Amino acid sequence: MAAPRRERRTLVKCTGYRYSATMARLETIPLVATAFAYGQRTAVVSPEGPFSYSDLLERSHRAALHLLAGREDLRGARVAFLITPSMAHVVTQWACFRAGGVAVPLCVMHPAPELAHVLDDSGAEIVVADSALFDKVAPLAAERGLRLLSTDDLNAPAPAGQLPQVAAERDAMLIYTSGTTGKPKGAMSTHAVLAAQIRSVATAWQWRHDDHILHVLPLHHLHGILNVLCCALWSGARCELLPAFDAELVWDRIADADGLSLFMGVPTIYQKLIAAYDAADPDRRTRIEAGCRRLRLMVSGSAALPVPTLQRFREISGHTLLERYGMTEIGMALGNPLDGERRPGHVGVPFPGVQVRLVDERGQAPEDGQPGRIEVRGANVFTGYYRRPEATREVFTQDGWFKTGDVAVRSQGSYRILGRESVDILKTGGFKVSALEIEAVLRAHPAIEDCAVVGVPDPEWGQRVAAAVVLSDGASLSLDTLRSWGKTQLAVYKVPSLLRTVDALPRNPLGKVTKPDVVAMFTPPSQPHGPASEHAGVVS
Ligand code: AMP
Repeated sequence: MAAPRRERRTLVKCTGYRYSATMARLETIPLVATAFAYGQRTAVVSPEGPFSYSDLLERSHRAALHLLAGREDLRGARVAFLITPSMAHVVTQWACFRAGGVAVPLCVMHPAPELAHVLDDSGAEIVVADSALFDKVAPLAAERGLRLLSTDDLNAPAPAGQLPQVAAERDAMLIYTSGTTGKPKGAMSTHAVLAAQIRSVATAWQWRHDDHILHVLPLHHLHGILNVLCCALWSGARCELLPAFDAELVWDRIADADGLSLFMGVPTIYQKLIAAYDAADPDRRTRIEAGCRRLRLMVSGSAALPVPTLQRFREISGHTLLERYGMTEIGMALGNPLDGERRPGHVGVPFPGVQVRLVDERGQAPEDGQPGRIEVRGANVFTGYYRRPEATREVFTQDGWFKTGDVAVRSQGSYRILGRESVDILKTGGFKVSALEIEAVLRAHPAIEDCAVVGVPDPEWGQRVAAAVVLSDGASLSLDTLRSWGKTQLAVYKVPSLLRTVDALPRNPLGKVTKPDVVAMFTPPSQPHGPASEHAGVVS
């Protein structure tokens, strides 16, 4: 190893940041290693300009030397960064990897207490921020005595030095879970895990070097990191980063697309795109429709895609959104096919290299059409929750299956998600019901624009089915009306007996409904209970 290390040092000192074939061969981080082959191809397009793969390698090399500041290797030190989606964000992520650190992306929308939680929980040593967010994180870093750097610092001329060789088995990234059901936990993945996740998604969706994706997702969450950014960079494709999602801007880019081929979003993004399309004039609509038809793939995930959203978006774009199911801890697990039938309301089949099974309450595989807990195994599964051995033990079976906490049914080979066992699987009067199924039905009511169903603790029924609804423009809805209609659509024990109308559902930065906040709306009960006799009649 001594000779190559010397060569690296010489290159950095004498010829600036020119990369040799030897350096490419020696690179042990899979994601970084692939980039050497792509040279002058465009890697990132962001407001700062277009950047090639060579630029990315060069800048992340320089930034890694700044992070190292004379150390040989960060040896897994956590580097937290609060950076708007941009080239500087990508450079910092790669610099953490290449310096032997663990990348901890912070959510740009989080208020100080949530940022503080991640800094403390991860035990971050270094914090990096861009100029727009620097003041937000600087006091937190100062209180904790952490080393604070700006993205400008990382881009300054580099100190002399060499980068460590970082084995693929080493920790790479600590991503905090959404915290929709509890306090966010740090999910740790190695470079090998990340590479397995990328390989699987890139294979399933046939990512190619001539792909061009418009990236509008947050970069502290796996969806934006893995499915969009990392898959693009792995494939030698072009990743165009918007600082944040903006429906009009997305339609502008899609309408004017020069080679755009892919788009990925969460259901709320598609709902906002639909609303912006509906508000557009006929000429713009035509250009949007034509732009969509030039894309080869549009994907939805991270939360259940309501079937009416899928249908309306199909009318506009000509695309049946490819819905997939995944999780911070496992990457992508299930997805509808790239070619072949995409079943609305379903999430398809396991991704390449990912094992998925359902397990019922007896610990056995359920019959087709019967619910079971989803368990996942494969090289794509994370290594554990950071500094939480107990929580990690709880989510793995003895033979290494990761217990996702989600429930699904499988029919005709395709999976349908019923929701998270902890918040979406309600137990009412002895019946188990899926909140997601009830939500799907309620959305068909003309007065209901959107809704979230939760179980509210009740001494008599265990839980009552409660619905928080956003009404369509000018509509009104009483509990009685909802129940009368609901009973024509659903078994009576599934019909909400508590109703609350709200202007908007509480959501996390990714647009997922935060169900504990919805439960809180009903405790203490804000509406009179529905008629218990009807409920009892079914249960008994
Ligand atoms: P996160 O780790 O933040 O990506 O959240 C993962 C969770 O989001 C999963 O455990 C599911 O509960 C939910 N989820 C992801 N994709 C889907 C989907 N297509 N349909 C329903 N729920 C989903």
